Amino acid sequence: MTFEELQIDDKLLEAISYMRFEKASPIQEQAIPLALQGNDLLACAQTGTGKTATFLIPILQDLVKNGSHGFTSLIIVPTRELAIQIDQELQGFSYFTDTTSKAVYGGDKGADWDSQKNAFTEGTNVIIATPGRLMAHLRLGYVSMKNLRHLVLDEADRMLDMGFIDDIRQILSYVPQKRQTMLFSATMAPEIQKLAQTILHEPKIVSIAIAKPAEGVKQSAYMAYPHQKVDLITHILEQNPDYDSIIIFTSTKKNIHSIVSAIKKKIRNVTIDGISSDFEQAEREEVLLRFRAKQTRILVATDVLSRGIDIKGINLVINFDVPRDAADYVHRVGRTARADAKGEAITFISDVDVPKFHKIEHLIERSIDKIPLPQELGEAPEWKEYQPKPKRHFNHSHHANKNNGGKKRFFYKKKNNEGKTPSGKTE
Ligand code: ADP
Ligand code: MG
Repeated sequence: MTFEELQIDDKLLEAISYMRFEKASPIQEQAIPLALQGNDLLACAQTGTGKTATFLIPILQDLVKNGSHGFTSLIIVPTRELAIQIDQELQGFSYFTDTTSKAVYGGDKGADWDSQKNAFTEGTNVIIATPGRLMAHLRLGYVSMKNLRHLVLDEADRMLDMGFIDDIRQILSYVPQKRQTMLFSATMAPEIQKLAQTILHEPKIVSIAIAKPAEGVKQSAYMAYPHQKVDLITHILEQNPDYDSIIIFTSTKKNIHSIVSAIKKKIRNVTIDGISSDFEQAEREEVLLRFRAKQTRILVATDVLSRGIDIKGINLVINFDVPRDAADYVHRVGRTARADAKGEAITFISDVDVPKFHKIEHLIERSIDKIPLPQELGEAPEWKEYQPKPKRHFNHSHHANKNNGGKKRFFYKKKNNEGKTPSGKTE
């Protein structure tokens, strides 16, 4: 489907074509017409499928067609990076219109408080905000929501994971009852459905396939002990000299610095940066800017970047460790091969991570090739195919695969909430 077929304003069509969007993606094709009719929307699709435009285009069309007076549209997002990114995309789409917008997020040193306050008092049309900072402004009483007609919750699953539910509930108490609400999520978890029931009014539901890495990603893995991992990166980089944009993900913030300096020591003239929620806002933006501009070849990051943030042309994602949450694997891997391009994702699995990787393979419903570790790196840990021992864990004959079409299911005991995002509201 082309965007012309959506029958939206020429000013928007022109901007869309400047942005080189030629064909609507599947979620856009299904959801935009429903949203243009004013319906509430519950939309579920994996990362990188074009959800941002799915809510921005209907909002802008309504503003162009029905007038944009004051604060009309609120987009709530989990992280400041995402707020900035959506604001940038919005500025693209609204280039030929007179829509105004502002990203509102917390930062160090009271970043930008006054200009955020002005955005509210001057009636900026579209505000893209993180929940905590938005609540802080709301409590001070100068935010008027009487003109509000659009509410978007983007990455709702992530916001729930991050413990923003109370903030969101409170924000909802300020928002007018009569409005169009759109909820976006990468997964349709039960908590999302529950939230949807409370905030959406007769929503149209669009769900595009289950979360799996995009087709264009070549996925593989190495078994490696922690002390072998930096040498393994060197080896991979030597094999792929033409890769100019690489992200290395680690679950642990405190690993970032040591990974960056170890790689700097091994590879001469390498351009590499680290980024995590510990960095100051200005620093984070600068690092991202350099990486986007391909001035930095390698970026070492925590999962803060793995959702939502969109950087074009990443050739390779390396998972320095196996993500805690299987869904995070999909999000990390989704940083490469955006919008139908090709990309590669390589995961390092240490002996203790084997069960976690089984969970991932189970989620994505395929097994990932394990490449033998180069000999000079020494002995690798062993990959163990998971052998369920049915009789000891559960009574196989009674549970005999009644509901899962005969597929084998693996069970792992949950240890103290493993798999939940620990705390980090800033992540
Ligand atoms: P999601 O929110 O689903 O993770 P995004 O909205 O961030 O995905 O889109 C991912 C990337 O694809 C962005 O770079 C975006 O500009 C691009 N994109 C989205 N829709 C289209 C389209 N119809 N044509 C071309 N590129 C698109
Ligand atoms: Mg998104």
